[in-house]
Amino acid sequence: MDTKFILPEKEMPSRWYNIQADLPSPLPPVLHPGTKQPVGPQDLAPLFPMALIQQEVSTERYIDIPEEVRDILKLWRPTPLYRAHRLEKALGTPAKIYYKYEGVSPAGSHKPNTAVAQAYYNMKEGVKRITTETGAGQWGSALAMGCNFFGIELKVYMVKVSYFQKPYRRSLIETWGAKVVPSPSTDTQCGRAALAEDPDANGSLGLAISEAVEDCVGREDTKYSLGSVLNHVLLHQTIIGEEALKQMEMAGDYPDVVIGCVGGGSNFGGIALPFARDKLTRGKKTRLVAVEPEACPSITRGVDVYDYGDTAGMAPIVKMFTLGHTFAPPAIHAGGLRYHGMAPLISELQRLGLLEARAYHQNTVFQAAVQFARSEGIVPAPEPAHAIRAVIDEALACRESGESKVILLALSGHGHFDMSSYDKYFAGELEDYAYPEEKVREALTHVPQV
Ligand SMILES: *Cc1c(COP(=O)(O)O)cnc(C)c1O
Repeated sequence: MDTKFILPEKEMPSRWYNIQADLPSPLPPVLHPGTKQPVGPQDLAPLFPMALIQQEVSTERYIDIPEEVRDILKLWRPTPLYRAHRLEKALGTPAKIYYKYEGVSPAGSHKPNTAVAQAYYNMKEGVKRITTETGAGQWGSALAMGCNFFGIELKVYMVKVSYFQKPYRRSLIETWGAKVVPSPSTDTQCGRAALAEDPDANGSLGLAISEAVEDCVGREDTKYSLGSVLNHVLLHQTIIGEEALKQMEMAGDYPDVVIGCVGGGSNFGGIALPFARDKLTRGKKTRLVAVEPEACPSITRGVDVYDYGDTAGMAPIVKMFTLGHTFAPPAIHAGGLRYHGMAPLISELQRLGLLEARAYHQNTVFQAAVQFARSEGIVPAPEPAHAIRAVIDEALACRESGESKVILLALSGHGHFDMSSYDKYFAGELEDYAYPEEKVREALTHVPQV
């Protein structure tokens, strides 16, 4: 009985899938934060290399993965697909559960898939230095690795609560040669302003973005990089879903349900967009389920409006499901899921009725994570543990109904740097924050009028 489906290296996809080619209508335009008019490539040029700006708006269905990027991705790709026989047995479910595991990358998550590509395109255009933000540290470490491969200097603004909760991710960032500071920091104006208002501020992903953007636009030699949300990031991540499609074929199955966690939407987009293509172009009925934390429920409780990508209102304004850019989520242990908005492409899937979204509290999520670890061996990161909760609930529903559904889980990373969160869970110290309705309502009064 096969439990692991390994794709030969030569079958690693040679191109990324761009769903913008198959959408019934174009995405709403991105607006300039100052003029509130649609942005053109020149407006984004201070932030990103032209190749990435072109990918952001491209309507080519497939984009070739450069050879130098493929050479690095081959260090860990294609990633394995597993059948979770032991978990199925533990649940007594007739469902078939598969999971695509991105934790085998050097940084332990899916994020290097885009980090390597972004560092490459910056290098090609002569960029010497990059700034970025990181929540739980996965993105900062992934980009540190990517920049290291292509000889680019990197400065990481790391959300303060994670900087202290996840000291080893900070060490990892430094090991790969990047500089990392806690955000809010004293290195930027918006950081200093936040500290003046509250010296003990936990920080947020949105504020860290503002710091990284401010640092970038202040220097000629520097560009900025974002680890999620943007179209080109989701594009680079589609290698996950393209591989999964081939591996599901090896397994002789096609998923009825694809389940992933959503922070900014990149790992979910990565696995789900190729299946969304099959829904849009081949009439497939696959359910795509996006799972988020109850403490930061952008799709399930947010509104679909134009909002700033960052806290300070310096980043472009995009149409997306958002809780309001000034919303500071509680310090939950899935740091990677603490973003106020949602990728425009995932937001579009929701508008088109191609998506289901759910939200869970942290204790039930960790309970699922522990059950998964005890069945399958792999200790998941708190972020994909949200998706595991949904997978287990789906499988238990199959036990009730007797249906033998095929479930595909995006297991976006391992939890080896998150063991202090597991300790808290075992000690009964994890708090299930109520949905912060008041704070969200307040934050939504600050979305830009466009
Ligand atoms: C960053 C991260 C996430 C959340 O970000 P997305 O862009 O929504 O994928 C989820 N899982 C892991 C392991 C991460 O590192």
